[in-house]
Amino acid sequence: DYQIHTVRMSLNDNSNIARARYIPAQKFLEIGTRGNVSFPSVLFSMDTSEGVQTRVGTGFQGGFPSWEIKPDYSTFSPLPYKPGIARLIGDLYGVDGKPIETSPRFVLQQVLQEYKNGGYLVYGAFEYEFYVYKETENGLEPSWKGLHCFSETKQSQVEDIFISLFKNLSEMGAGPEVANTEYGSGQFEVTHSPFWDLEIADMAFYYRTSIKEILHDQGYKTTFMSKPVKDMSGSGAHLNLSIHDEKSVNLFSNPNAPDGLSDLCRWFIGGQQLHVRALSALVNPTINSYKRLQPYSFAPTTNTWGYEHRGTMIRIPRQRGRDTRIEHRLPGADTNPYLSLAAILAAGLDGIRKKQEPTLPLQNQDAYQSDFEKLPRSLYEALSHLKEDTFFKEMLGEAFINDYVELRQAEWDRYLAHVTDWELQEYLNIF
Ligand code: GLU
Ligand code: MG
Ligand code: MG
Repeated sequence: DYQIHTVRMSLNDNSNIARARYIPAQKFLEIGTRGNVSFPSVLFSMDTSEGVQTRVGTGFQGGFPSWEIKPDYSTFSPLPYKPGIARLIGDLYGVDGKPIETSPRFVLQQVLQEYKNGGYLVYGAFEYEFYVYKETENGLEPSWKGLHCFSETKQSQVEDIFISLFKNLSEMGAGPEVANTEYGSGQFEVTHSPFWDLEIADMAFYYRTSIKEILHDQGYKTTFMSKPVKDMSGSGAHLNLSIHDEKSVNLFSNPNAPDGLSDLCRWFIGGQQLHVRALSALVNPTINSYKRLQPYSFAPTTNTWGYEHRGTMIRIPRQRGRDTRIEHRLPGADTNPYLSLAAILAAGLDGIRKKQEPTLPLQNQDAYQSDFEKLPRSLYEALSHLKEDTFFKEMLGEAFINDYVELRQAEWDRYLAHVTDWELQEYLNIF
């Protein structure tokens, strides 16, 4: 129907890098009946720096067998900006036919199964912020300049970006809701309507990759790095979320409660607060993620929540009834949507099971002040909590957590070995 000649099989790896293989459509049609597409397992042993392979040495005793990508046909999506090409997301299986436990999509599927067993459905969306640059002779320049968030004039200068994103993302069935420029020069936000369960993460994954590709074709460079510029706003990926029963009744809503929130909603928040130290390492996976979490930046620095409060970790938007939801403001745009959704849902489920009461919601209080419990300040700090944590090992799998900690720790070690511009500016002349 779509005149597809080429199929792209994609998946998000354990370092949040989109990986893919290309298959001619004719060959792809055979795959449905016999065999899958092979995937080099060594890709899960690589770090985030292009070309450097952290664990190749240590992994060699296993010989890096090929894994297989099994297409999830429900994710089939023709790419409107690349006529004739369709994209699918796949799941990874080992030579023994068992799912790869370190695969982020598998980790999320396991947690979603727990929700399903409890009769719960999950409804939500990530809201991505990102920076768009122009490639010029003098290097990268912001696509628009100044700090004029929402300025009509500034936005009209980059309408080509809004129009092409709306057009292409809508055609992919990923209907954008609202877009605007954000606080930083060159920064944008594009939100989309909510989805159910696994599709929340699949859609976020589609959004991130498609936005980059669409704008690349227009000569722009897009980054979902959390804090690309020191003195400018970071990019968040706030997660809007609610839990529903199987008849899709919103279980976060209780019209009889003074604040309209159910016990279940409060306990879900309690679970976030209980696990946030280790959870941070899963939600904010890079060294740079923590540079976004600065006081008075609208990104959180404390373990707090509040109604319509944009300084807290969890904001409760004003909508109630069937639209009651939380907005989890901890994830940065560099978050792996599969892993952050898995970790947030796991923590929430624990809160529900333990009937964990959250702290008092903030009202007319400064969330950045020192009285409140501080969130981890660095990847190292967050990882040291995750290493000690038994809860996430149980919920997300010990093999996954150990592997994840090892990879992220290697990233931290490489960072420590690096002499930064900041150090040269600070120390070169004075010592
Ligand atoms: N850029 C902020 C963040 O990093 C969010 C700003 C907003 O509320 O839209 O989370
Ligand atoms: Mg925003
Ligand atoms: Mg938001």
